[in-house]
Amino acid sequence: MAKITGVFSMRHFFVLSLALNVSFILRTMYEREQGLICFRSETQKGQITQRTRLYSSSSSSSSSAAATRTEAQDGVERVINLDQGDPTMYEQYWQHAGEQTTVVIRGWQHMSYFSDVSNICWFLEPELAKEIVRVHRVVGNAVTEGRHIIVGTGSSQLFLAALFALAPRDGPEPVSVVSQAPYYSSYPSMTDCLKSGLYKWAGAAQSYSKEGPYIELVTSPNNPDGNVRRSVVNKSEGTLVHDLAYYWPQYTPISSPADHELMLFTVSKSTGHAGMRIGWALVKDQEVAKRMIKFIELNTIGVSKDSQLRAAKVLQSVSDSSEHAGGWEGVESFFEFSYRVMAERWTLLREAVNSSGIFSLPEYPPAYCSFLNRVFEPQPAFAWLKCERDIHDCESFLRGHRILARGGKHFGVSPKYVRVSMLDRDNNFNLFVKRLCNIHL
Ligand code: PMP
Repeated sequence: MAKITGVFSMRHFFVLSLALNVSFILRTMYEREQGLICFRSETQKGQITQRTRLYSSSSSSSSSAAATRTEAQDGVERVINLDQGDPTMYEQYWQHAGEQTTVVIRGWQHMSYFSDVSNICWFLEPELAKEIVRVHRVVGNAVTEGRHIIVGTGSSQLFLAALFALAPRDGPEPVSVVSQAPYYSSYPSMTDCLKSGLYKWAGAAQSYSKEGPYIELVTSPNNPDGNVRRSVVNKSEGTLVHDLAYYWPQYTPISSPADHELMLFTVSKSTGHAGMRIGWALVKDQEVAKRMIKFIELNTIGVSKDSQLRAAKVLQSVSDSSEHAGGWEGVESFFEFSYRVMAERWTLLREAVNSSGIFSLPEYPPAYCSFLNRVFEPQPAFAWLKCERDIHDCESFLRGHRILARGGKHFGVSPKYVRVSMLDRDNNFNLFVKRLCNIHL
């Protein structure tokens, strides 16, 4: 020890500590520099938000600051889970809408199984049917005339009801179910979970070449990649299910009312009420509609009336707010709000992705939206992020940075892609963008 103190005098210690301090300051400056885009993003976001957002209590600028604080506080430790498409982004809007969508249900109400015995869908609440027709008329995204409306416990139940209804009864083998890759990751597992004798998952539609009957699932805009889609197999014995969960103006320009044989919609992604578990099908063919209704009878003997009435109230509020320019009863138009939040998020994400040099995103052609009366680029509910350079497993790469997203293989494509939810709360989304633009190879 004496030897060491002999070699390192107080002066040496002073010089060493000075050097360490200088290097610490330089490193901090460098890191700041690296984080400049994030920093700028946060500031810009604050500006955008202050300029446009109605909501004072939980504005995005304060949540941007919260994101910055949280990131600093947790030392980049927090796991950001954007694997699922949980639409919590919409809570803000509905908080602000307040009592408008409150539904009071007394203990003695809605006790019967039956809702309307004059309708082939006897468990459909007339109030919900009315609001479904109205919201499609207001938005102009689907034809409802000459359609049977079938309510389901989420569009997930209706998806299974559709397979049950469309599968030939007397086929020598289960009918093939296909969808163009990248396809919604739940389709294969939902189709095969009961190992049905009626239908079976047969993979990507683009490589399907078998003769005979098949069912093609067309998701438009598509989950995960946001593209507008049409059927691709085009053989004579095919039947189509159009999953239009995302055909709403906050995600994509509404070009014309969808007019297909069997269309599926859900409140989960339109209004954000995933927990209500309400979806609906618009079905042309009466026999197909009857079989779908039979499936729901066998499966759950109808659909919760409480949820249906709540869904009716929410859809009514959406239509009211959309029909009155500039909002309704002090509340902004639902689609103006959700369009704007999505637009802000996509701007920030693209900025982070462009500055990273590691990731890329699809480009979407702008189109005219008849509902919002403006031209815009699709701003999907999921970001279909690609890891560039020599990163082969984008899901693992992001997990290494404590970001959870769903890898391409779940959607039938390369692991270089991941699907990231764009519908989480402000705080999580902001933290995600900030972390993304600070990733360097
Ligand atoms: N279809 C697609 C394409 C979806 O993305 C989802 C939700 N992730 C569903 C159906 C299921 O919706 P629901 O919550 O109504 O069951």
